[in-house]
Amino acid sequence: LVEVMAKYECYRLVFSSSATIYGSTITDKIKEDHDIKPHNPYGHTKAAVEDLLTDLYNSNDKWSFAILRYFNPVGAHSSGQIGEDPFGIPNNLFPFISNVAAGRIKKLKVFGSNWPTPDGTGVRDYIHVSDIAKGHFDAFNYLLQRKKGKLLKINLGTGKGYSVLEVINTFNNVIGNKIPYEIVDRRSGDNAISIADPSLAKNILGWEAKNSLFDMCRDSWNWQAKNPNGYY
Ligand code: UDP
Repeated sequence: LVEVMAKYECYRLVFSSSATIYGSTITDKIKEDHDIKPHNPYGHTKAAVEDLLTDLYNSNDKWSFAILRYFNPVGAHSSGQIGEDPFGIPNNLFPFISNVAAGRIKKLKVFGSNWPTPDGTGVRDYIHVSDIAKGHFDAFNYLLQRKKGKLLKINLGTGKGYSVLEVINTFNNVIGNKIPYEIVDRRSGDNAISIADPSLAKNILGWEAKNSLFDMCRDSWNWQAKNPNGYY
């Protein structure tokens, strides 16, 4: 991709990276200078591309890169026309809950209740996909306004963490029913807590997440209810 970009003198790129590149911590909100220590193959691919883009920028500062490290993007467009439709059985919490709520899967499995968190279930910084989209818009505008090349590495998160049980309760409020669930063993490769320090995005881009956990659950459910078979 970057070879073709260089050929056509197109030097600006926004890269979707991920909070999974960070080493774990259970005490602090994660800042951009936190250790890069991916704990799964997906995280390794993101860290490798970040390194490649960093080398490219260092070799020639014509390049401008905004590397955006997403925390846990969830929800759907508020119209209910664009949403998440994973193939097969979903891996991630939100599409799994939506499928249980829709009656396509019987029960949610909660992976572990003995994590070092307030209620024992994993805590994540969930962020609405529309806030993520706005983050891209703001990052790209920032690059466009600069004459010289730039390398940004920025967290996109809300700075707030919610447990699996808190997500289930909020979803219950949205659907007016109870999501059936059972506690099972921890999933390998998981960690206890992952919460962003999103202050750099605010300072540099003036960007801040606007949507609440309720908004994320409401929009996930709206998409699921309007598209019971996904895009098909
Ligand atoms: N999780 C769960 N059941 C599921 C899927 C996820 O209990 O079916 C938990 C998982 O252990 C983690 C949180 O929900 O604590 C978010 O998981 P997800 O896969 O959505 O994101 P990630 O692991 O990438 O943070």
